[in-house]
Amino acid sequence: ATMPPLLSAIANAGRHGVLVKSAVVMERLGQVDAVALDKTGTLTEGVPRVADVRPLPSSCLGERELLRLAASAEHPSEHPLARAIVDAARERGLSLSPAEDFESTPGVGVTAIVDGRPVAVGAPGRLLDGATDATAAHATAAHAAAIAAELEEGGRTAVLVEVDGIPVGVLGLADRLRPDAAATVASLTALTGAAPALLTGDNPRAAARLASEVGIGDVRAGLLPQDKVSAVKEFEGAGRKVLVVGDGVNDAPALAAAHTGVAMGRAGSDLALETADAVIVRDELATVPAVIALSRRARRLVV
Ligand code: ADP
Ligand code: MG
Repeated sequence: ATMPPLLSAIANAGRHGVLVKSAVVMERLGQVDAVALDKTGTLTEGVPRVADVRPLPSSCLGERELLRLAASAEHPSEHPLARAIVDAARERGLSLSPAEDFESTPGVGVTAIVDGRPVAVGAPGRLLDGATDATAAHATAAHAAAIAAELEEGGRTAVLVEVDGIPVGVLGLADRLRPDAAATVASLTALTGAAPALLTGDNPRAAARLASEVGIGDVRAGLLPQDKVSAVKEFEGAGRKVLVVGDGVNDAPALAAAHTGVAMGRAGSDLALETADAVIVRDELATVPAVIALSRRARRLVV
């Protein structure tokens, strides 16, 4: 027997390096008319590297001790920023302390007890919101925020480190755009008639800089996982069928809410891979427009 068109499209998608989980998904891929892309790990390679280590003078910490504390707290996390911080500490030969009472909040950061003291590592905006308004702590927080802003202007993702609830330093992480990011945005724009939107938990400065490099105008930054869902619902409220592409735990709710969710497979979190309708196994973003085109061709054969 000849294979039904949607099944041969699934086989074809597999040859392109995309695992499409069902014939229903294969069909839905061709219906999408709007796309929302995550930034870190999706438009970028998701292999950030620590480029700046900036202890605050008020902390009396050196660069090595700041990095060691942050890496100790991040050690249990699977977030790409966490892996970068741990790698940077290892490269410098630092020995990490155990992270006790480790907790991770998607889109915010991590907390743990390191050497008996509470350490928090995460998004400056979110951690600083909780800072006390005692005058000394306030000045320290303002200094940390200024360093973070300076790093973000340069396109870095700034990560704040706090000990005992007080900022002690800022790390700057650099990530590279995927080589096929701009071409993929152009193909998706041609296929759907509208440029994709960028949904990111990262800071607005770094997000805007990257968006302008790839041809994206609709940038929504500083989003928590639920904010990504709200953005998807907003597009759907406007009558669009949204394809979401993401890689992180923080993308899972949006992948589930989307008309069709696609996860980046190589570095993607387990939760994203399970939640998504399709998984990009070969780690090439350009396969997204390719499978949309495959679906449209198959649907023409079905009817
Ligand atoms: P994106 O949406 O671009 O993939 P995330 O939602 O995963 O980004 O993260 C958003 C922000 O939250 C990061 O830029 C970082 O500031 C902070 N963050 C999240 N998890 C961590 C972590 N484990 N360590 C440090 N910062 C974190
Ligand atoms: Mg991501």
